[in-house]
Amino acid sequence: MFPPVSLLRICLTFFLLGAESALAWGEPHHAITRAAVGVLPLWEREVLGEEAKALGDRYCLIPDQVFTDRENAKFAAMESAPGEVYLQILHLPGPQTETLEVVRSFMERAVQALREGRTSDAAKYMGTICHQIEDYGSPSHTLPGDNQFTLLQQFLPPGEAMRDQLVHGPIENGVFEVDLAGYHPVLLGASVAEASWRLLHRMHEAILNARSTTIPILQALYAEDGEGVVKHQLRAAVVDGQVLADALHTIICLGTGKVAPPESLALDRVGIAGFFPLEAPALHYPQTEFFSLPHWGYPRSGVILAGGKRAMPLTLRTEGGPKEFRQGLSAGMGKTLTYLLPRGVWRSFGVLAGLHPELGAKGRVEFTISGDGRVLASVTVGGEEAARKMECAVNDITRLQLSLTSRGIDGKSAYAIWGEPMLAK
Ligand SMILES: [Zn+2]
Repeated sequence: MFPPVSLLRICLTFFLLGAESALAWGEPHHAITRAAVGVLPLWEREVLGEEAKALGDRYCLIPDQVFTDRENAKFAAMESAPGEVYLQILHLPGPQTETLEVVRSFMERAVQALREGRTSDAAKYMGTICHQIEDYGSPSHTLPGDNQFTLLQQFLPPGEAMRDQLVHGPIENGVFEVDLAGYHPVLLGASVAEASWRLLHRMHEAILNARSTTIPILQALYAEDGEGVVKHQLRAAVVDGQVLADALHTIICLGTGKVAPPESLALDRVGIAGFFPLEAPALHYPQTEFFSLPHWGYPRSGVILAGGKRAMPLTLRTEGGPKEFRQGLSAGMGKTLTYLLPRGVWRSFGVLAGLHPELGAKGRVEFTISGDGRVLASVTVGGEEAARKMECAVNDITRLQLSLTSRGIDGKSAYAIWGEPMLAK
């Protein structure tokens, strides 16, 4: 029996998601999981043995079947949420901190089970991870708070034929094969702490990719263009499958202790310019996180925007002259960017701090790096000075913060750039 609060939550969940959507991708769950398993190296599929097939046939649906498959419900449960049978966060993204904790927990249990030779348990935990990755990257789970697209359909009104149709199911469901041929799964970390953190960012990529498919699918549905629907569904399913293959490959490598040295070497450094900070909780910049100087905008990865209009390469003055950076962030004054870090994984954080030589020549900006609320490093750079290298230890830090303050007379010239923000082991 459920306590009343849980019952209410379950009813709410069904109300919010709609009963049919509890299945989410439905049939495609199987296709995506099978495709991901199919691109694992042979030895990894042999580690799973018969469970490899069960993963695609049954285990990838465990989080949807917690009320009917009581025996396996524990493989989709969190110890920290006793009594919660249906965990919504396994189907829809929660806050980054919570999502990371859930991903870490299931990955940890899968790896541990493999280490102890409990292959079937490991595969069931992997099934839960499959489901979560697939649901997050599903074209009909893309719009925060609008899982039935009542809001989206106000922007994109259906014609007469579709007027009263629920579209959640049609947007994601169908029967198709997912082809990942040629994809080589990537190791996401040398430990569960690192791998789950990287997986979170891979899942963000899948969510963004899926968002780009939702409207084309809906338009194809309106136009009764079945081929068009599948074409765009596959764009989402392929990326889901790739992320899934990375996750499964990583779990098996960590669980068997077989991590190939070149793969783990590739994990020594990671740039964070493409990651979403906590201030973008649903992977976009809410209006409240906009900044007013040097122009009305929001942080950008890879470019700087002149006057809010023209994207220019990230350029910094260095001792050897101006240098362009592909990796980096331009950001505004007074709004902090906070990045989650896994504790004990990264030794240091380094970045080149400076102003764009042309746009920011008259500006002067204080760059501050903080960790868990404590200032780790701070420099003030003028627009005509060379960019400064900042480096700090982050081993115990779980929240890394970057902030900017205009210290010049001309705030409109505060064109600040964080060049190559990089974590290193
Ligand atoms: Zn689901």
